[in-house]
Amino acid sequence: MKKHNFYAGPSILSEYTLTKTAEAIKDFAGTGLSILEISHRSKEFTAVMDEAEQLFKELLDIPEGYKVLFLGGGASTQFCMVPFNLLKKKAAYLDTGTWANKAIKEAKLFGEVDVVASSKADNYTYVPKEYTVPADADYFHITTNNTIYGTEIRKDLDVCVPLVADMSSDIFSRPIDVSKYDVIYGGAQKNLAPAGVTFVIVKEDALGKVDRAIPTMLNYKTHAEKGSMFNTPPVLPIYAAVQTLRWYKELGGVKKLEEMDNAKAAKLYDAIDASKLFVGTANTEDRSIMNVCFVMKPEYAELEKEFNEFASTKGIVGIKGHRSVGGFRASLYNALPMESVDVLIAAMKEFEKNH
Ligand SMILES: *Cc1c(COP(=O)(O)O)cnc(C)c1O
Repeated sequence: MKKHNFYAGPSILSEYTLTKTAEAIKDFAGTGLSILEISHRSKEFTAVMDEAEQLFKELLDIPEGYKVLFLGGGASTQFCMVPFNLLKKKAAYLDTGTWANKAIKEAKLFGEVDVVASSKADNYTYVPKEYTVPADADYFHITTNNTIYGTEIRKDLDVCVPLVADMSSDIFSRPIDVSKYDVIYGGAQKNLAPAGVTFVIVKEDALGKVDRAIPTMLNYKTHAEKGSMFNTPPVLPIYAAVQTLRWYKELGGVKKLEEMDNAKAAKLYDAIDASKLFVGTANTEDRSIMNVCFVMKPEYAELEKEFNEFASTKGIVGIKGHRSVGGFRASLYNALPMESVDVLIAAMKEFEKNH
């Protein structure tokens, strides 16, 4: 049976990405060798690295003065690399969920952290909007998409200090004004590639301003100066990322991806809102178009497990919600076709009819 993959991460990749990557595992760029067994300094792999940076710059319209890095360590390592490299005295953070919290925890190791607002008391069902970012903060850190809670900031905020954003789960889902940010980072396993590579878009002018000593591997400058080749980069995930980026470009770029993502999310939210069994958990105006979180209405709560089982008979996988929200989470990343959304909606309706 065809599977409909709604996993939150690692998550669905395009057929294009999977096919091209599988080919390169057998024979990479006509070398007669697998990409898994060739030097990262070979001209064939260097070309892949160059293309990765080039496609990031092109698709996200990244201005001059920024570097795109491809590192190991996951987005979680960025929680400490950001303050290590940028926090002089004080940084401001917006607490919108589990990932934001983890970033805050690391930043506190490096200086004063001003958590300007938090929606924790309401189990992160909304994104706070009433707050002031102190003008003397070195940067303001946000998590644009809260993967676990299904809320999202879908615009580039206007604040008086540079922005730093964790865009792990919504990169390439809309055009961004990169010039407002000092750093944009994310793990690849949500909207780009298999786990193992982390992208970092960093403004060169933002670097070299802190006094502390920074370990070589945790210093953005090291990787910026060496084109992400200071040590062995995660070659396979980078290769897969390039295939995804080529596919994005072929589809028509981020504007087109945004349209497709909006259409998928709108359809699913409409079905949830029209349902007598299900209800969305996130505040309507903050709803994520990447991770749609919903639960059974209280009077039908006991049907949760049954719906999960019913959905799996339709080939639907990965819709179990994160334990901190419960219920269901349908992740609608770029590679997920509308057809899968239709299958999920049909399953919801059929289940509703039977109950
Ligand atoms: C998944 C996720 C992370 C963690 O990424 P790792 O690569 O596993 O460290 C961080 N932030 C957000 C928003 C995420 O969705």
